[in-house]
Amino acid sequence: MPHKPYLARCRMASALAGIALLAATSATAQTATPTPSPAAPPQPAILQVPKPVPATPPAAAPKPPATPAKELFGAARTPAPLQARAIGFYARGCLAGASPLAIDGPAWQVMRLSRNRNWGHPKLVAWLERFAADAKRLDGWPGLLVGDISQPRGGPMLTGHASHQIGLDADIWLTPMPDRRLTEAERESLSAVSMLDASDKGRVDTNVWTAGHARLLRRAALSDDVERIFVHPAIKKALCTSATGDRGWLGKVRPYFGHHFHFHVRMTCPADSPTCTPQPPPAGNEDGCGKEVDDWIKIVTKPPEPEPAPAKPAPPPKPLTLDQLPAECRLILESAPSPQEASAVRR
Ligand SMILES: [Zn+2]
Repeated sequence: MPHKPYLARCRMASALAGIALLAATSATAQTATPTPSPAAPPQPAILQVPKPVPATPPAAAPKPPATPAKELFGAARTPAPLQARAIGFYARGCLAGASPLAIDGPAWQVMRLSRNRNWGHPKLVAWLERFAADAKRLDGWPGLLVGDISQPRGGPMLTGHASHQIGLDADIWLTPMPDRRLTEAERESLSAVSMLDASDKGRVDTNVWTAGHARLLRRAALSDDVERIFVHPAIKKALCTSATGDRGWLGKVRPYFGHHFHFHVRMTCPADSPTCTPQPPPAGNEDGCGKEVDDWIKIVTKPPEPEPAPAKPAPPPKPLTLDQLPAECRLILESAPSPQEASAVRR
């Protein structure tokens, strides 16, 4: 007779369930309608019911960090075979249709060939060729040793400069070219000579700084195509002291840190480059001599401050990404090399 005890069990279970349900209902009712208490203290903030927060769209999956633009442009071995143009600003841009400066010319040699930075806007390359020839013929300068210009497609570099990105900046050594062709190994290892007095960084060393250097810088600054020249403050001071006659050209020669092994020439934006951003004219007095250069000398000769207490080092500045460069730079980077350039790289 299995049915009777089974039925009894079912009834009992049903009754128990009903009691449980009643108890639950009663508990819910008590929670929903608490007895008001006039003396109830205000609830601590932690217990207060927060105001409803408007719904936010679901967060997108975090994007992986963008590759620094210097890695992308630093890997480009060939120029973008497009019409030449400088794009963007000297320190934030890129270069289409770059030309190489030949590694040897009648009055120049290119240094540090392994860097592949002898590329520039054709206007700068032509200017360097002309400038080297004029300095030799008219001033007796033995020839130029040319350092970094730009990468084949410009852009930020893996090492060194913040500028030199649009093919309009060139570094020229203050060491004159020797009267023989340097080997490739010498072009890697030869060191430039500093123009500074070893015991006083606010002065040039008159054993190495010559009137020839001053003529070379003056010739560069007199060119209408040159927007700026950067030199160490001690060099600027030497130019201020020795210049005679019209001093207008001195205004283009700007003091800056470093730049005592080489000087830096910056060209104006070429007419074929509508998206090239010019640099505003220099602030300050006309020739930049007097107080302006003296203040710079104070900065570079100031004894180093005592080491500050160890603090959390500031994070290094984030490298530029492709999104931070002019939009055209993406096309410059992506354009295929010309067949000749591609085969030259393979060789
Ligand atoms: Zn430079």
